[in-house]
Amino acid sequence: MSRAAAELQTHIDALFPICRSITGQGLRQTLGYIADKIPLRIWEVPTGTAVLDWEIPPEWNVRHAAIYTLAGDRVVDFSQHNLHLVQYSEPVDRIVSREELDTHLHSLPNQPDLIPYRTAYYRRTWGFCLSHRDRLALTDDAYRVVIVSTLEPGSLSYGECFLPGASSDEVLFSSHCCHPSLANDNLSAISVAIELARGLAGRTRRLSYRFLFMPGTIGAITWLHFNRDAADRVRHGVVLSCLGDSAPLTYKRSRRGDAMIDRYIGRLMQDAGLADRVRPFIPMGYDERQYCSPGFNLPVGCLMRSPPGSFPEYHTSADNPGFLRLQSLTDSLELLERLISILENDAIWVRTNPYGEPQLGRRGLYAQQDNHDPSHCPGFDQETLLWVLNLADGQHSSFDMAELSGKSFMSVVAASAALAEEGLLAPTGLITADASGA
Ligand code: ZN
Repeated sequence: MSRAAAELQTHIDALFPICRSITGQGLRQTLGYIADKIPLRIWEVPTGTAVLDWEIPPEWNVRHAAIYTLAGDRVVDFSQHNLHLVQYSEPVDRIVSREELDTHLHSLPNQPDLIPYRTAYYRRTWGFCLSHRDRLALTDDAYRVVIVSTLEPGSLSYGECFLPGASSDEVLFSSHCCHPSLANDNLSAISVAIELARGLAGRTRRLSYRFLFMPGTIGAITWLHFNRDAADRVRHGVVLSCLGDSAPLTYKRSRRGDAMIDRYIGRLMQDAGLADRVRPFIPMGYDERQYCSPGFNLPVGCLMRSPPGSFPEYHTSADNPGFLRLQSLTDSLELLERLISILENDAIWVRTNPYGEPQLGRRGLYAQQDNHDPSHCPGFDQETLLWVLNLADGQHSSFDMAELSGKSFMSVVAASAALAEEGLLAPTGLITADASGA
């Protein structure tokens, strides 16, 4: 197992048992874990704070929750599986008829062995989730329901890892971390984001990177509310979601559809033979909905494998670490590392002397092409060199050159570096403008 694979597995195993929600100790504990791995600033936004059109809800914490027979036997126990309790259940301690209890139970008749995941963040209620098989076994006339939870003024927590680069232009990676014991839906992306950030933290960076770990919807809304200036600096962004199942990668474009991030990831998907897995933007899914809302319209897409709701394990107890494939996690991480390599190297060059073709032989750049000894291979061929010389007009980025020439991006980068070393190309000072001109 590679080091990255081992780390990804460690994060999943460590975080799976924690009962996360959109607020509370489980969320804080998760952020604390991430903060041990990468530089993370943890923010606490008080209950009642207005954020865009929303308000930070009360903080929810649970000590205990169970359904007992009147004889005192536990028939459903939150300590056995934290999906058993509907998130944001209010405190209860009373005896209820089976009919009343039934209105508070959630199960999946078509998947009778699985526990569903249910939430009730913004309405006061309580409920339990259980397998349909266990539900059918509840035949007593009455049961005692005990939920020892608190819904009190507190705060919403989120984590922000900012890695400054030479440029203030930012790349945003965002993952939700509000789901309890669900592996593909939240932990896969969290663990990949930790490793991606860790790799970036240890290198010099041309661009600045911001990793957000926050509760879905309300977290992104909160961040956008307080970070309009930072949002203005986001040049590229990716929401990371289900990255560990066995499906091939899927990329959902930003609302703009033609942002540079859409072109970059579109190319990586094409290179991986996954062009048919690139989807248009739709206003459903994860926090790309918020980043791509009309007032922000940030260039943020979403990278995933199975889209949300499209796999039978989604939001059930079957979305556990056994459902994940380590190879899927490492492949997801590798694609993102290739993306970083493009982001860090895409540049706009201009010919220092734009008239005609410079004499390459004199500069040792022509002869090299006849040398087939791979130890002398400069990483590009003659055609790539000519493409770069032709397109280095200050209007084409390295990525544009790779697209137009059909040459690999890294060979264009290598050819540009060789030409720059000979003084034939100069940087324009522009990194790359976003396709929309924003
Ligand atoms: Zn979910």
